[in-house]
Amino acid sequence: MSRTVVVTGSTSGIGLGIAKAFAVEGCHVVINGFGKLDEVEAARRELEVLGGGRVIYHGADMTKPEEIAELIGTAKETLGSVDVLVNNAGIQHVAKIEEFPPEKWDQIIAINLTSSFHTMRYAIPLMKTKKAGRIINVASAHALTASPFKSAYVAAKHGILGLTKTAALELAEFGITVNAICPGYVLTPLVEKQIPDTARERGISEEQVKTDVMLRLQATKDFVSIEEVAATAVFLASDAARQITGTHISVDGGWTAQ
Ligand code: NAD
Repeated sequence: MSRTVVVTGSTSGIGLGIAKAFAVEGCHVVINGFGKLDEVEAARRELEVLGGGRVIYHGADMTKPEEIAELIGTAKETLGSVDVLVNNAGIQHVAKIEEFPPEKWDQIIAINLTSSFHTMRYAIPLMKTKKAGRIINVASAHALTASPFKSAYVAAKHGILGLTKTAALELAEFGITVNAICPGYVLTPLVEKQIPDTARERGISEEQVKTDVMLRLQATKDFVSIEEVAATAVFLASDAARQITGTHISVDGGWTAQ
């Protein structure tokens, strides 16, 4: 029987890549995120032909707990349950702490951290009923190490690792694993958008942001691909990963080995 996979923030970038990888596996997939409705519908259709599973879209805003409840409720009512939950939605803002807009701080903590608490609290009872489940949190190398000017993002990503470990301990005896993926830099809209701001904060060119900031610590000197992150998510959802729980897998070109 096809598994049902919910991927938050999957209208773009890494989330869309993860949704695609599970669709190829024949899973039913719920995609989520913002975007123009015609473009989202085109992406949904593209995914649906990949592996024969159903693909539906739910536009829940990850800052709104009641909409998150509707997202998980829709997955259950339309596709039967939630077998794999991928918490991926995330945003970034780059500024000095003393200039960091408090509303941006709140928004980043809400989307990058608190939304995962809400998706989990709604999905866990469904997984417990089946005595099976996989929760995969897309964290970041910034869950393990810091960079200046990214205070909210680094705080949220460090937090998600704590939530990952706690949930893993609570759920281990229910056949549910909880893990995080910690990617290094992947060239997605989230990263493209922060290049001009980082250039301004550091007083360097946009090209220097790529080579001297983003890839400086990435030992491979290359960006991570969306497909590499997606393949890691599919692995963590596989039977082979049954005993992997409460930990993270870094996909960061050696960044956090330094
Ligand atoms: P992206 O901007 O391409 O995609 C972000 C997705 O989240 C989009 O679908 C967007 O619509 C959605 N989203 C944003 N706010 C939302 C909200 N309030 N409610 C619902 N959906 C919302 O970014 P990405 O680079 O693919 O990032 C995806 C995840 O990967 C994030 O958690 C990010 O922190 C993490 N990550 C990215 C990188 C990287 O280098 N790109 C590295 C490490 C971790």
